[in-house]
Amino acid sequence: MQNFPGVGVSPGRIIGTIKQMPKPISEPPAGEQLSGETSAEEATAALKAAAGAVHDELKARAESASGDGKAVLEATALMAKDTMLLKGAGKLIARGTSAQRAIWEAGASVAEMLHNLGGYMAERATDVLDVRARIVAELRGVPAPGIPSSGTPFILVAEDLAPADTATLDPEKVLALVTAGGGPQSHTAIIARSLGLPAVVAAAGVDALADGTEVFVDGAAGSISVDPDDAQRAAAEAWATNASLLAVFDGNGTTADGHLVPLLANVGGGKNAVAAAGLNAQGVGLFRTEFCFLERDTEPSVEEQAAAYKSVFDAFPGKKVVLRTLDAGADKPLPFLTDATEPNPALGVRGYRTDFTTPGVLERQLQAIALAEKDSEADVWVMAPMISTAEEAAHFASMCTAAGITNPGVMVEVPSAALTAESILREVGFASLGTNDLTQYAMAADRQLGPLANLNTPWQPAVLRLVGLTVEGSRAEGHNKPVGVCGEAAADPALAVVLTGLGVNTLSMTARSLAAVAAVLKTVTLAEAQQLAKLALSAPSATEAKAWVREKLPALEELGL
Ligand code: PEP
Ligand code: MG
Repeated sequence: MQNFPGVGVSPGRIIGTIKQMPKPISEPPAGEQLSGETSAEEATAALKAAAGAVHDELKARAESASGDGKAVLEATALMAKDTMLLKGAGKLIARGTSAQRAIWEAGASVAEMLHNLGGYMAERATDVLDVRARIVAELRGVPAPGIPSSGTPFILVAEDLAPADTATLDPEKVLALVTAGGGPQSHTAIIARSLGLPAVVAAAGVDALADGTEVFVDGAAGSISVDPDDAQRAAAEAWATNASLLAVFDGNGTTADGHLVPLLANVGGGKNAVAAAGLNAQGVGLFRTEFCFLERDTEPSVEEQAAAYKSVFDAFPGKKVVLRTLDAGADKPLPFLTDATEPNPALGVRGYRTDFTTPGVLERQLQAIALAEKDSEADVWVMAPMISTAEEAAHFASMCTAAGITNPGVMVEVPSAALTAESILREVGFASLGTNDLTQYAMAADRQLGPLANLNTPWQPAVLRLVGLTVEGSRAEGHNKPVGVCGEAAADPALAVVLTGLGVNTLSMTARSLAAVAAVLKTVTLAEAQQLAKLALSAPSATEAKAWVREKLPALEELGL
Protein backbone atom coordinates (compact mmCIF):
# COMPACT_ATOMS: atom_id res chain seq x y z
CA MET A 1 0.00 0.00 0.00
CA GLN A 2 1.37 3.41 -0.98
CA ASN A 3 1.36 5.93 1.88
CA PHE A 4 1.80 9.70 1.86
CA PRO A 5 2.49 11.16 5.29
CA GLY A 6 1.54 14.80 5.80
CA VAL A 7 0.19 17.04 8.53
CA GLY A 8 -3.43 16.47 9.59
CA VAL A 9 -5.21 19.82 9.89
CA SER A 10 -8.88 18.90 10.02
CA PRO A 11 -10.12 15.60 11.47
CA GLY A 12 -12.12 13.00 9.65
CA ARG A 13 -11.51 9.61 8.00
CA ILE A 14 -12.84 9.19 4.54
CA ILE A 15 -12.45 7.10 1.40
CA GLY A 16 -12.95 8.49 -2.07
CA THR A 17 -11.39 8.99 -5.48
CA ILE A 18 -9.16 11.96 -6.15
CA LYS A 19 -9.22 14.80 -8.63
CA GLN A 20 -6.17 16.98 -9.09
CA MET A 21 -6.55 20.76 -9.14
CA PRO A 22 -5.12 21.75 -12.55
CA LYS A 23 -1.91 23.76 -12.60
CA PRO A 24 -2.32 27.48 -13.39
CA ILE A 25 -2.21 28.29 -17.11
CA SER A 26 1.16 29.68 -18.17
CA GLU A 27 1.41 32.76 -20.38
CA PRO A 28 1.91 31.98 -24.10
CA PRO A 29 5.32 33.35 -25.16
CA ALA A 30 5.37 37.05 -26.14
CA GLY A 31 5.57 37.48 -29.91
CA GLU A 32 4.30 33.91 -30.61
CA GLN A 33 3.23 33.77 -34.25
CA LEU A 34 0.81 31.58 -36.17
CA SER A 35 2.52 28.34 -37.12
CA GLY A 36 3.34 27.86 -40.81
CA GLU A 37 0.41 25.57 -41.68
CA THR A 38 -2.32 27.51 -39.81
CA SER A 39 -4.10 30.31 -41.63
CA ALA A 40 -5.52 33.34 -39.79
CA GLU A 41 -9.04 32.11 -40.67
CA GLU A 42 -8.38 28.69 -39.15
CA ALA A 43 -6.89 30.21 -36.00
CA THR A 44 -9.85 32.58 -35.62
CA ALA A 45 -12.27 29.68 -36.06
CA ALA A 46 -10.36 27.62 -33.46
CA LEU A 47 -10.46 30.55 -31.04
CA LYS A 48 -14.21 31.00 -31.52
CA ALA A 49 -14.81 27.31 -30.98
CA ALA A 50 -12.69 27.36 -27.80
CA ALA A 51 -14.51 30.45 -26.48
CA GLY A 52 -17.85 28.81 -27.28
CA ALA A 53 -16.87 25.65 -25.42
CA VAL A 54 -15.79 27.70 -22.38
CA HIS A 55 -19.09 29.60 -22.47
CA ASP A 56 -21.15 26.41 -22.67
CA GLU A 57 -19.23 24.71 -19.88
CA LEU A 58 -19.57 27.67 -17.50
CA LYS A 59 -23.25 28.10 -18.36
CA ALA A 60 -23.95 24.45 -17.66
CA ARG A 61 -22.16 24.75 -14.29
CA ALA A 62 -24.15 27.91 -13.48
CA GLU A 63 -27.39 26.02 -14.09
CA SER A 64 -26.61 23.48 -11.39
CA ALA A 65 -25.12 26.05 -8.94
CA SER A 66 -26.94 28.38 -6.57
CA GLY A 67 -26.45 31.74 -4.82
CA ASP A 68 -23.19 33.65 -5.23
CA GLY A 69 -21.49 30.78 -7.07
CA LYS A 70 -24.26 30.82 -9.72
CA ALA A 71 -23.93 34.59 -10.24
CA VAL A 72 -20.13 34.36 -10.58
CA LEU A 73 -20.39 31.53 -13.10
CA GLU A 74 -23.09 33.30 -15.15
CA ALA A 75 -21.06 36.53 -15.32
CA THR A 76 -17.92 34.62 -16.33
CA ALA A 77 -19.80 32.63 -18.99
CA LEU A 78 -21.02 35.86 -20.61
CA MET A 79 -17.47 37.18 -20.70
CA ALA A 80 -16.46 34.25 -22.95
CA LYS A 81 -18.81 35.68 -25.61
CA ASP A 82 -17.64 39.27 -25.17
CA THR A 83 -17.31 40.84 -28.63
CA MET A 84 -14.60 43.31 -27.61
CA LEU A 85 -12.48 40.44 -26.31
CA LEU A 86 -12.97 38.22 -29.36
CA LYS A 87 -12.68 41.02 -31.92
CA GLY A 88 -9.50 42.30 -30.23
CA ALA A 89 -8.01 38.81 -30.47
CA GLY A 90 -9.23 38.45 -34.09
CA LYS A 91 -7.36 41.60 -35.12
CA LEU A 92 -4.13 40.31 -33.60
CA ILE A 93 -4.55 36.96 -35.36
CA ALA A 94 -5.08 38.77 -38.68
CA ARG A 95 -1.66 40.36 -38.12
CA GLY A 96 -0.07 36.93 -37.64
CA THR A 97 -0.20 36.46 -33.85
CA SER A 98 -0.98 32.93 -32.60
CA ALA A 99 -4.51 32.35 -31.27
CA GLN A 100 -3.27 31.70 -27.70
CA ARG A 101 -1.12 34.81 -27.60
CA ALA A 102 -3.89 36.87 -29.24
CA ILE A 103 -6.53 36.02 -26.65
CA TRP A 104 -3.97 36.54 -23.90
CA GLU A 105 -3.16 40.08 -25.07
CA ALA A 106 -6.76 40.97 -25.91
CA GLY A 107 -7.78 39.78 -22.41
CA ALA A 108 -5.11 42.00 -20.84
CA SER A 109 -6.35 45.08 -22.76
CA VAL A 110 -10.01 44.48 -21.87
CA ALA A 111 -9.11 43.85 -18.21
CA GLU A 112 -7.08 47.07 -18.12
CA MET A 113 -9.91 49.05 -19.68
CA LEU A 114 -12.43 47.67 -17.14
CA HIS A 115 -9.99 48.33 -14.32
CA ASN A 116 -9.66 51.97 -15.40
CA LEU A 117 -13.44 52.39 -15.44
CA GLY A 118 -13.45 51.64 -11.69
CA GLY A 119 -16.36 50.51 -9.49
CA TYR A 120 -18.44 47.53 -10.62
CA MET A 121 -16.72 47.38 -14.02
CA ALA A 122 -13.29 47.14 -12.39
CA GLU A 123 -14.44 44.02 -10.60
CA ARG A 124 -15.21 42.30 -13.91
CA ALA A 125 -11.50 42.55 -14.80
CA THR A 126 -10.75 39.32 -12.89
CA ASP A 127 -13.55 37.53 -14.81
CA VAL A 128 -11.87 38.46 -18.10
CA LEU A 129 -8.53 37.14 -16.92
CA ASP A 130 -10.20 33.94 -15.75
CA VAL A 131 -11.96 33.51 -19.10
CA ARG A 132 -8.80 34.06 -21.15
CA ALA A 133 -6.99 31.40 -19.09
CA ARG A 134 -9.88 29.00 -19.71
CA ILE A 135 -9.83 29.70 -23.45
CA VAL A 136 -6.06 29.11 -23.60
CA ALA A 137 -6.54 25.84 -21.67
CA GLU A 138 -9.20 24.78 -24.20
CA LEU A 139 -6.89 25.64 -27.12
CA ARG A 140 -4.09 23.62 -25.51
CA GLY A 141 -6.38 20.73 -24.69
CA VAL A 142 -5.47 20.82 -20.97
CA PRO A 143 -7.87 21.02 -17.98
CA ALA A 144 -9.34 24.44 -17.17
CA PRO A 145 -7.82 26.24 -14.17
CA GLY A 146 -9.65 26.40 -10.83
CA ILE A 147 -11.48 23.78 -8.81
CA PRO A 148 -12.47 20.93 -11.13
CA SER A 149 -16.14 20.22 -11.62
CA SER A 150 -17.56 16.73 -11.36
CA GLY A 151 -20.91 15.03 -11.21
CA THR A 152 -19.80 12.89 -8.27
CA PRO A 153 -18.09 13.82 -4.97
CA PHE A 154 -14.28 13.62 -4.97
CA ILE A 155 -11.20 14.26 -2.84
CA LEU A 156 -9.55 17.45 -4.05
CA VAL A 157 -5.77 17.32 -4.38
CA ALA A 158 -3.97 20.64 -4.90
CA GLU A 159 -0.60 22.26 -4.42
CA ASP A 160 -2.31 24.73 -2.05
CA LEU A 161 -5.57 26.72 -2.02
CA ALA A 162 -6.01 30.49 -1.83
CA PRO A 163 -8.91 32.21 -0.02
CA ALA A 164 -10.43 33.12 -3.42
CA ASP A 165 -10.72 29.41 -4.33
CA THR A 166 -13.42 28.98 -1.69
CA ALA A 167 -15.90 30.85 -3.87
CA THR A 168 -16.03 27.95 -6.32
CA LEU A 169 -15.46 25.10 -3.86
CA ASP A 170 -18.72 23.20 -3.54
CA PRO A 171 -18.69 21.39 -0.16
CA GLU A 172 -21.35 19.00 -1.48
CA LYS A 173 -18.91 17.77 -4.12
CA VAL A 174 -15.62 17.83 -2.22
CA LEU A 175 -15.15 15.02 0.35
CA ALA A 176 -11.73 16.03 1.69
CA LEU A 177 -8.79 18.31 0.90
CA VAL A 178 -5.24 17.10 0.42
CA THR A 179 -2.34 19.36 -0.50
CA ALA A 180 1.26 18.69 -1.41
CA GLY A 181 2.24 22.12 -0.06
CA GLY A 182 0.61 24.35 2.54
CA GLY A 183 1.27 24.40 6.26
CA PRO A 184 -1.00 23.86 9.27
CA GLN A 185 -1.77 27.61 9.35
CA SER A 186 -2.28 27.92 5.59
CA HIS A 187 -5.58 28.96 4.13
CA THR A 188 -6.18 25.42 2.92
CA ALA A 189 -6.28 24.39 6.57
CA ILE A 190 -8.58 27.27 7.47
CA ILE A 191 -10.92 26.54 4.54
CA ALA A 192 -11.04 22.82 5.35
CA ARG A 193 -11.96 23.40 8.98
CA SER A 194 -14.57 25.99 8.10
CA LEU A 195 -16.23 23.55 5.71
CA GLY A 196 -15.85 20.63 8.12
CA LEU A 197 -13.83 18.68 5.54
CA PRO A 198 -11.10 16.23 6.58
CA ALA A 199 -7.77 17.64 5.40
CA VAL A 200 -4.09 16.78 5.21
CA VAL A 201 -1.46 19.32 4.10
CA ALA A 202 2.23 19.05 3.24
CA ALA A 203 1.81 15.53 1.86
CA ALA A 204 4.69 15.58 -0.60
CA GLY A 205 4.13 13.49 -3.72
CA VAL A 206 0.30 13.37 -3.71
CA ASP A 207 0.25 15.72 -6.67
CA ALA A 208 1.63 12.88 -8.80
CA LEU A 209 -1.38 10.59 -8.19
CA ALA A 210 -3.67 10.03 -11.17
CA ASP A 211 -7.23 11.32 -11.18
CA GLY A 212 -9.60 8.57 -10.10
CA THR A 213 -7.15 6.89 -7.68
CA GLU A 214 -9.00 5.61 -4.61
CA VAL A 215 -7.45 6.80 -1.32
CA PHE A 216 -8.10 6.77 2.42
CA VAL A 217 -7.60 10.20 4.04
CA ASP A 218 -7.02 10.41 7.80
CA GLY A 219 -7.30 14.09 8.75
CA ALA A 220 -6.39 13.50 12.42
CA ALA A 221 -3.31 11.32 11.86
CA GLY A 222 -2.29 13.27 8.74
CA SER A 223 -1.92 10.53 6.15
CA ILE A 224 -3.16 9.42 2.75
CA SER A 225 -3.13 5.76 1.68
CA VAL A 226 -3.71 4.44 -1.80
CA ASP A 227 -5.91 1.31 -2.14
CA PRO A 228 -7.48 1.33 1.34
CA ASP A 229 -7.47 -1.93 3.30
CA ASP A 230 -10.33 -3.41 5.36
CA ALA A 231 -9.25 -1.68 8.61
CA GLN A 232 -9.29 1.68 6.85
CA ARG A 233 -12.71 0.99 5.36
CA ALA A 234 -13.98 0.20 8.87
CA ALA A 235 -12.36 3.39 10.23
CA ALA A 236 -14.09 5.47 7.55
CA GLU A 237 -17.43 3.89 8.46
CA ALA A 238 -16.86 4.52 12.18
CA TRP A 239 -16.02 8.16 11.47
CA ALA A 240 -19.27 8.64 9.57
CA THR A 241 -21.10 7.71 12.82
CA ASN A 242 -18.81 9.82 15.05
CA ALA A 243 -19.07 12.86 12.81
CA SER A 244 -22.76 13.22 13.58
CA LEU A 245 -21.99 13.08 17.34
CA LEU A 246 -19.50 15.91 16.88
CA ALA A 247 -21.88 18.08 14.89
CA VAL A 248 -23.75 19.64 17.81
CA PHE A 249 -22.35 22.21 20.24
CA ASP A 250 -24.70 23.02 23.12
CA GLY A 251 -23.49 26.63 23.31
CA ASN A 252 -21.70 26.21 26.63
CA GLY A 253 -17.91 26.12 26.65
CA THR A 254 -16.70 24.90 30.03
CA THR A 255 -14.21 22.62 31.73
CA ALA A 256 -15.34 19.60 33.77
CA ASP A 257 -15.34 21.72 36.95
CA GLY A 258 -17.36 24.57 35.46
CA HIS A 259 -14.60 27.05 34.54
CA LEU A 260 -16.20 28.99 31.67
CA VAL A 261 -14.33 29.26 28.39
CA PRO A 262 -16.68 30.96 25.91
CA LEU A 263 -16.30 29.29 22.52
CA LEU A 264 -16.66 31.82 19.73
CA ALA A 265 -16.66 31.63 15.95
CA ASN A 266 -14.31 32.95 13.28
CA VAL A 267 -16.37 34.36 10.41
CA GLY A 268 -15.77 36.15 7.13
CA GLY A 269 -19.18 37.73 6.53
CA GLY A 270 -22.93 37.70 7.18
CA LYS A 271 -23.70 34.25 5.75
CA ASN A 272 -20.91 32.69 7.75
CA ALA A 273 -22.14 34.45 10.88
CA VAL A 274 -25.69 33.19 10.45
CA ALA A 275 -24.33 29.65 10.03
CA ALA A 276 -22.14 30.07 13.15
CA ALA A 277 -25.12 31.31 15.18
CA GLY A 278 -27.02 28.23 13.98
CA LEU A 279 -24.20 26.08 15.36
CA ASN A 280 -24.58 27.79 18.76
CA ALA A 281 -21.36 29.81 18.73
CA GLN A 282 -21.31 31.96 21.86
CA GLY A 283 -20.36 35.01 19.80
CA VAL A 284 -17.76 35.96 17.20
CA GLY A 285 -14.10 36.06 18.26
CA LEU A 286 -12.74 37.03 14.85
CA PHE A 287 -14.61 38.70 12.01
CA ARG A 288 -12.08 38.82 9.17
CA THR A 289 -13.45 41.93 7.44
CA GLU A 290 -11.02 41.66 4.51
CA PHE A 291 -12.86 38.47 3.46
CA CYS A 292 -15.87 40.67 2.52
CA PHE A 293 -13.78 42.52 -0.06
CA LEU A 294 -11.21 40.03 -1.44
CA GLU A 295 -12.41 40.48 -5.01
CA ARG A 296 -12.52 44.29 -4.85
CA ASP A 297 -10.24 46.53 -6.85
CA THR A 298 -11.49 49.70 -5.19
CA GLU A 299 -12.19 50.69 -1.61
CA PRO A 300 -15.81 49.92 -0.65
CA SER A 301 -17.84 52.94 0.45
CA VAL A 302 -18.57 53.58 4.13
CA GLU A 303 -22.23 52.62 3.56
CA GLU A 304 -21.33 49.39 1.76
CA GLN A 305 -18.94 48.43 4.53
CA ALA A 306 -21.48 49.30 7.23
CA ALA A 307 -24.03 46.99 5.57
CA ALA A 308 -21.51 44.12 5.43
CA TYR A 309 -20.56 44.58 9.11
CA LYS A 310 -24.15 44.93 10.25
CA SER A 311 -25.03 41.61 8.63
CA VAL A 312 -22.60 39.94 11.06
CA PHE A 313 -23.68 41.98 14.09
CA ASP A 314 -27.32 41.12 13.40
CA ALA A 315 -26.58 37.40 13.60
CA PHE A 316 -25.50 37.82 17.24
CA PRO A 317 -27.85 40.22 19.07
CA GLY A 318 -26.74 40.71 22.68
CA LYS A 319 -23.54 38.67 22.05
CA LYS A 320 -19.92 39.63 21.69
CA VAL A 321 -18.64 40.24 18.14
CA VAL A 322 -14.92 40.97 17.76
CA LEU A 323 -14.37 42.67 14.43
CA ARG A 324 -10.88 42.89 13.00
CA THR A 325 -10.03 45.85 10.78
CA LEU A 326 -8.80 44.98 7.28
CA ASP A 327 -5.85 42.59 7.37
CA ALA A 328 -4.77 43.14 3.78
CA GLY A 329 -1.47 41.82 2.52
CA ALA A 330 0.62 38.64 2.24
CA ASP A 331 -1.79 35.77 1.49
CA LYS A 332 -4.82 38.12 1.50
CA PRO A 333 -3.98 40.92 -0.93
CA LEU A 334 -6.52 43.70 -1.47
CA PRO A 335 -5.61 45.61 -4.64
CA PHE A 336 -6.74 48.95 -3.17
CA LEU A 337 -4.43 48.59 -0.17
CA THR A 338 -1.49 46.35 -0.94
CA ASP A 339 1.48 46.60 -3.26
CA ALA A 340 1.70 43.41 -5.31
CA THR A 341 5.39 44.00 -6.03
CA GLU A 342 6.62 43.93 -2.41
CA PRO A 343 9.59 41.56 -2.17
CA ASN A 344 8.58 40.07 1.19
CA PRO A 345 4.85 40.60 1.75
CA ALA A 346 4.51 38.71 5.06
CA LEU A 347 7.03 41.16 6.53
CA GLY A 348 5.67 44.07 4.55
CA VAL A 349 2.96 46.67 4.69
CA ARG A 350 0.11 44.42 5.85
CA GLY A 351 -2.71 44.71 8.39
CA TYR A 352 -2.62 47.85 10.53
CA ARG A 353 0.55 48.96 8.70
CA THR A 354 -1.40 49.82 5.53
CA ASP A 355 -2.42 52.96 7.45
CA PHE A 356 1.21 54.16 7.02
CA THR A 357 1.00 54.05 3.23
CA THR A 358 -2.71 54.48 2.47
CA PRO A 359 -4.00 56.76 5.21
CA GLY A 360 -7.75 57.27 5.30
CA VAL A 361 -8.89 53.70 4.59
CA LEU A 362 -8.68 52.63 8.26
CA GLU A 363 -10.33 55.84 9.41
CA ARG A 364 -13.24 55.29 7.03
CA GLN A 365 -13.50 51.66 8.07
CA LEU A 366 -13.81 52.71 11.72
CA GLN A 367 -16.57 55.16 10.71
CA ALA A 368 -18.37 52.33 8.92
CA ILE A 369 -18.05 50.07 11.99
CA ALA A 370 -19.43 52.82 14.25
CA LEU A 371 -22.31 53.33 11.80
CA ALA A 372 -23.12 49.63 11.72
CA GLU A 373 -22.86 49.35 15.49
CA LYS A 374 -25.29 52.22 16.05
CA ASP A 375 -28.35 50.26 15.09
CA SER A 376 -27.22 46.82 16.07
CA GLU A 377 -27.67 44.92 19.30
CA ALA A 378 -24.33 43.11 19.25
CA ASP A 379 -21.64 43.81 21.83
CA VAL A 380 -19.03 45.06 19.33
CA TRP A 381 -15.28 44.90 20.04
CA VAL A 382 -12.82 46.17 17.42
CA MET A 383 -9.21 45.09 17.00
CA ALA A 384 -6.31 45.87 14.69
CA PRO A 385 -4.19 43.14 13.07
CA MET A 386 -0.37 43.10 13.02
CA ILE A 387 0.23 45.49 15.92
CA SER A 388 3.92 45.43 16.87
CA THR A 389 4.40 48.20 19.47
CA ALA A 390 2.61 50.00 22.29
CA GLU A 391 2.75 53.22 20.23
CA GLU A 392 0.80 51.56 17.45
CA ALA A 393 -1.73 50.26 19.97
CA ALA A 394 -2.11 53.77 21.41
CA HIS A 395 -2.55 55.26 17.94
CA PHE A 396 -5.17 52.68 17.01
CA ALA A 397 -7.01 53.32 20.30
CA SER A 398 -7.04 57.06 19.58
CA MET A 399 -8.43 56.45 16.08
CA CYS A 400 -11.19 54.28 17.58
CA THR A 401 -12.04 56.95 20.13
CA ALA A 402 -12.23 59.57 17.37
CA ALA A 403 -14.68 57.33 15.48
CA GLY A 404 -16.80 56.76 18.59
CA ILE A 405 -15.71 53.15 19.14
CA THR A 406 -15.39 52.39 22.82
CA ASN A 407 -13.68 49.01 23.06
CA PRO A 408 -10.48 48.91 21.00
CA GLY A 409 -8.12 45.95 21.15
CA VAL A 410 -5.24 44.39 19.27
CA MET A 411 -4.26 41.12 17.76
CA VAL A 412 -1.11 39.64 19.21
CA GLU A 413 0.46 37.89 16.24
CA VAL A 414 3.86 39.55 16.02
CA PRO A 415 6.32 38.20 18.64
CA SER A 416 7.20 41.76 19.74
CA ALA A 417 3.57 42.26 20.76
CA ALA A 418 3.61 39.11 22.91
CA LEU A 419 6.87 40.18 24.54
CA THR A 420 5.55 43.66 25.32
CA ALA A 421 1.94 42.66 26.03
CA GLU A 422 1.92 44.48 29.35
CA SER A 423 2.61 47.91 27.84
CA ILE A 424 0.42 47.23 24.81
CA LEU A 425 -2.48 46.26 27.05
CA ARG A 426 -2.16 49.51 28.96
CA GLU A 427 -3.28 51.21 25.74
CA VAL A 428 -6.21 48.98 24.74
CA GLY A 429 -8.97 46.92 26.33
CA PHE A 430 -8.21 43.39 25.12
CA ALA A 431 -5.94 41.17 23.06
CA SER A 432 -6.59 38.28 20.75
CA LEU A 433 -3.76 35.91 19.92
CA GLY A 434 -3.43 35.20 16.21
CA THR A 435 -1.46 32.01 16.57
CA ASN A 436 -1.23 31.45 12.81
CA ASP A 437 0.94 34.49 12.23
CA LEU A 438 2.50 34.36 15.69
CA THR A 439 3.83 30.92 14.77
CA GLN A 440 5.08 31.94 11.33
CA TYR A 441 6.91 34.95 12.76
CA ALA A 442 8.26 33.22 15.89
CA MET A 443 9.60 30.34 13.82
CA ALA A 444 10.54 32.45 10.76
CA ALA A 445 8.61 29.90 8.68
CA ASP A 446 6.19 30.96 5.95
CA ARG A 447 2.78 29.58 6.96
CA GLN A 448 2.03 28.62 3.36
CA LEU A 449 5.05 26.40 2.79
CA GLY A 450 4.63 22.64 3.04
CA PRO A 451 8.31 21.80 3.66
CA LEU A 452 8.22 24.03 6.79
CA ALA A 453 5.06 22.44 8.20
CA ASN A 454 6.87 20.83 11.13
CA LEU A 455 8.28 24.19 12.23
CA ASN A 456 5.02 25.93 11.56
CA THR A 457 2.88 24.47 14.33
CA PRO A 458 1.55 26.27 17.40
CA TRP A 459 2.64 23.21 19.42
CA GLN A 460 6.16 24.66 19.24
CA PRO A 461 7.15 25.31 22.87
CA ALA A 462 8.43 28.76 21.76
CA VAL A 463 4.96 29.69 20.55
CA LEU A 464 3.30 28.36 23.70
CA ARG A 465 5.71 30.48 25.73
CA LEU A 466 4.70 33.58 23.78
CA VAL A 467 1.06 32.77 24.55
CA GLY A 468 1.95 32.42 28.25
CA LEU A 469 3.83 35.74 28.21
CA THR A 470 0.86 37.50 26.65
CA VAL A 471 -1.45 36.19 29.38
CA GLU A 472 1.09 37.26 32.03
CA GLY A 473 1.26 40.75 30.49
CA SER A 474 -2.52 40.98 30.51
CA ARG A 475 -2.61 40.32 34.24
CA ALA A 476 0.19 42.65 35.25
CA GLU A 477 -0.33 44.86 38.24
CA GLY A 478 -2.98 47.51 37.76
CA HIS A 479 -4.88 45.83 34.97
CA ASN A 480 -6.54 42.61 34.05
CA LYS A 481 -7.42 42.53 30.40
CA PRO A 482 -9.12 39.65 28.58
CA VAL A 483 -7.02 37.59 26.17
CA GLY A 484 -8.53 35.27 23.58
CA VAL A 485 -7.08 33.02 20.90
CA CYS A 486 -8.49 33.30 17.40
CA GLY A 487 -5.79 31.46 15.42
CA GLU A 488 -6.25 27.90 14.22
CA ALA A 489 -4.68 26.62 17.44
CA ALA A 490 -8.03 27.15 19.15
CA ALA A 491 -9.70 24.67 16.78
CA ASP A 492 -7.37 21.82 17.81
CA PRO A 493 -9.17 20.23 20.78
CA ALA A 494 -5.94 19.17 22.51
CA LEU A 495 -4.35 22.60 22.07
CA ALA A 496 -7.59 24.24 23.21
CA VAL A 497 -7.08 22.48 26.55
CA VAL A 498 -3.46 23.68 26.73
CA LEU A 499 -4.46 27.27 25.88
CA THR A 500 -7.11 27.18 28.61
CA GLY A 501 -4.46 25.94 31.03
CA LEU A 502 -2.20 28.83 29.98
CA GLY A 503 -4.93 31.23 31.12
CA VAL A 504 -6.56 32.25 27.85
CA ASN A 505 -10.14 33.48 28.46
CA THR A 506 -11.91 32.70 25.18
CA LEU A 507 -11.29 30.48 22.17
CA SER A 508 -12.44 31.41 18.70
CA MET A 509 -12.50 28.99 15.80
CA THR A 510 -14.38 27.93 12.75
CA ALA A 511 -17.90 27.10 13.92
CA ARG A 512 -17.56 23.52 12.69
CA SER A 513 -14.90 22.84 15.33
CA LEU A 514 -16.93 24.12 18.29
CA ALA A 515 -18.54 20.79 19.17
CA ALA A 516 -15.27 18.83 19.09
CA VAL A 517 -13.41 21.43 21.19
CA ALA A 518 -16.28 21.63 23.69
CA ALA A 519 -16.46 17.83 23.99
CA VAL A 520 -12.77 17.50 24.89
CA LEU A 521 -12.67 20.58 27.13
CA LYS A 522 -15.48 19.07 29.20
CA THR A 523 -13.31 16.07 30.05
CA VAL A 524 -10.70 18.06 32.04
CA THR A 525 -10.77 20.32 35.10
CA LEU A 526 -9.04 23.71 35.01
CA ALA A 527 -6.27 22.34 37.27
CA GLU A 528 -5.74 19.43 34.86
CA ALA A 529 -5.62 21.85 31.92
CA GLN A 530 -2.99 23.87 33.80
CA GLN A 531 -0.95 20.68 34.36
CA LEU A 532 -1.18 19.86 30.66
CA ALA A 533 -0.07 23.41 29.78
CA LYS A 534 2.99 22.94 32.01
CA LEU A 535 3.69 19.58 30.40
CA ALA A 536 3.53 21.12 26.90
CA LEU A 537 5.78 24.03 27.90
CA SER A 538 8.36 21.64 29.30
CA ALA A 539 8.52 19.52 26.13
CA PRO A 540 11.73 19.75 24.12
CA SER A 541 9.90 19.77 20.80
CA ALA A 542 6.54 20.41 19.19
CA THR A 543 6.18 16.72 18.36
CA GLU A 544 6.68 15.72 21.98
CA ALA A 545 4.48 18.52 23.32
CA LYS A 546 1.66 17.29 21.12
CA ALA A 547 2.23 13.59 21.82
CA TRP A 548 2.54 14.05 25.60
CA VAL A 549 -0.65 16.09 25.85
CA ARG A 550 -2.64 13.86 23.50
CA GLU A 551 -1.67 10.80 25.51
CA LYS A 552 -3.32 12.35 28.58
CA LEU A 553 -6.56 13.11 26.76
CA PRO A 554 -8.24 9.74 26.04
CA ALA A 555 -11.36 11.50 24.71
CA LEU A 556 -9.41 12.35 21.54
CA GLU A 557 -8.96 8.74 20.48
CA GLU A 558 -12.51 7.82 21.52
CA LEU A 559 -13.93 10.57 19.31
CA GLY A 560 -11.50 10.00 16.42
CA LEU A 561 -10.00 13.49 16.79
C1 PEP B 1 -3.79 34.57 12.87
O1 PEP B 1 -2.81 35.06 12.31
O2 PEP B 1 -3.73 33.66 13.71
C2 PEP B 1 -5.14 35.03 12.52
C3 PEP B 1 -6.19 34.64 13.21
O3 PEP B 1 -5.28 35.84 11.43
P1 PEP B 1 -5.19 35.34 9.90
O4 PEP B 1 -5.17 33.86 9.89
O5 PEP B 1 -6.40 35.90 9.23
O6 PEP B 1 -3.92 35.97 9.45
MG1 MG C 1 -2.99 36.86 11.21
